[in-house]
Amino acid sequence: MEIDGFRGQLITADHADYDTARAVWNGAIARRPRLIARCSGTGDVAAAVRFARDHDLEIAVRGGGHNVAGTAVCDDGIVIDLSTMRAVWVDPVGRTARVQGGALWGDVDHETQAHGLATTGGIVGHTGVAGLTLGGGIGFLMRKHGLSIDNLSAAEVVTADGSIVRASTDEHPDLFWALRGGGGNFGVVTSFRFALHHLGPSVVAGPVFWAADDTVDVLRFYRDFAAEAPDELGTVVRLGTVPPLPAIPEDLHWQPAIAVISCYAGAVEDGERAVQALRRLGTPLVDLLAPTPYVAHQAATDDTVPHGWHYYWKSTSLAGLSDNAIAAIADHAFAANSPRSYTAMFHMGGAVARVPREATAFAGRDVAHNLIVDAVWLPDEPGEHAAAETAWARRFLEALEPDRAGVYVNFLDADDDASRIREAYGDHTYRRVAEIKAKYDPDNAFHHNKNISPA
Ligand SMILES: Cc1cc2nc3c(=O)[nH]c(=O)nc-3n(C[C@H](O)[C@H](O)[C@H](O)COP(=O)(O)OP(=O)(O)OC[C@H]3O[C@@H](n4cnc5c(N)ncnc54)[C@H](O)[C@@H]3O)c2cc1C
Repeated sequence: MEIDGFRGQLITADHADYDTARAVWNGAIARRPRLIARCSGTGDVAAAVRFARDHDLEIAVRGGGHNVAGTAVCDDGIVIDLSTMRAVWVDPVGRTARVQGGALWGDVDHETQAHGLATTGGIVGHTGVAGLTLGGGIGFLMRKHGLSIDNLSAAEVVTADGSIVRASTDEHPDLFWALRGGGGNFGVVTSFRFALHHLGPSVVAGPVFWAADDTVDVLRFYRDFAAEAPDELGTVVRLGTVPPLPAIPEDLHWQPAIAVISCYAGAVEDGERAVQALRRLGTPLVDLLAPTPYVAHQAATDDTVPHGWHYYWKSTSLAGLSDNAIAAIADHAFAANSPRSYTAMFHMGGAVARVPREATAFAGRDVAHNLIVDAVWLPDEPGEHAAAETAWARRFLEALEPDRAGVYVNFLDADDDASRIREAYGDHTYRRVAEIKAKYDPDNAFHHNKNISPA
């Protein structure tokens, strides 16, 4: 098979790399595309889009391949694969980075921290920049510096007709608005330009773990601690078993525990002060909060969520941590069958909430927390494990029903239907993204995603 004007790699089922090239982060996804077009640059992406349109092929777009629903790969159609387009160019004077559409957050952290700079990205280094950014982008730095999209100043996009356009506040401003939260609905982004901020290289960061039995006390304390935290302090609560990481004493490995993982985006002395009350709470099992290279902190949990395990997610945003929510979390978080399943809860607010809701297509600016129930099982575990873990995640979400306040689009899984996509945007934002979808992709060529129907 050949694509006119394409000079990257074309991978079909008879190719030795086919099985690795079609695999995504979630090992439960096993789709067989007709063709994987591994692009070497923007020209290839445009050629692949035109080819797909001319041949009426189903299109999937792959950035980091991390989406739990496996939208980066389709059956039978073409995967427009940007996984080898991972360059990051930093302008240390202008404090910006241009990042190719297949880069991972580990690539961005590595290159930007070489200059003592950073921008808001995900908390796991092997997550893709593209999918994460296009859905909003939440991470440890967001309360100080905003979401990933709040740091985005321009994008190069290949649209559904194969043309290459630039989106910014000055060029195609409607497209630029929609890209900031609307996901991969409007075209293939071949590069992003982000604003950077001085950071580190060492920051006060790391987890404090308490026994699972302390969950209610920890969460009640955390509710107030988080609400009063300075913008510099980003925290994520993690509930599950203690991961068997080398930094954690071995006798704690696989013990059920609640952890608050912090990262202070400011001076080390200020960070030490900001986390003092947290480390004095109760009797921690282990306290690993310390001045840490930001790059090391960002990579610290990479091995706990490896490629190839099977994953299923349920998620909700929370307006706050009510007593009911705390009770539901304490009741369900440790009821999974698999020791690998866990729950994570990102504290929002700060700079995220100060951007007006209408400014971008990201609707969840006023929520307090984003919670994700992550059911995990191993590829060789029998089918009943999958059934038990998915049932656990669903039950957990049901228990949080009274406290639900929307959902973050990037945390939706394959069985979250169109109504949950609408929930992620709300009616007002959805109407506007649907209008812009109709302008840039009227035929819905890019529908293998959290799809927005053209208005
Ligand atoms: C372990 C783990 C940790 C995570 N942590 C965070 C976190 O801290 N913060 C957070 O906000 N999210 C987080 N996420 C969720 C993450 O934002 C989504 O999974 C996101 O889809 C990942 O982007 P990707 O490029 O790797 O995805 P892919 O699976 O490659 O793509 C997902 C979709 O994004 C679109 N897309 C991808 N690349 C492009 C492109 N170049 N142009 C246009 N559209 C494109 C396509 O529609 C595609 O179907 C995490 C996910 C995982 C698995």
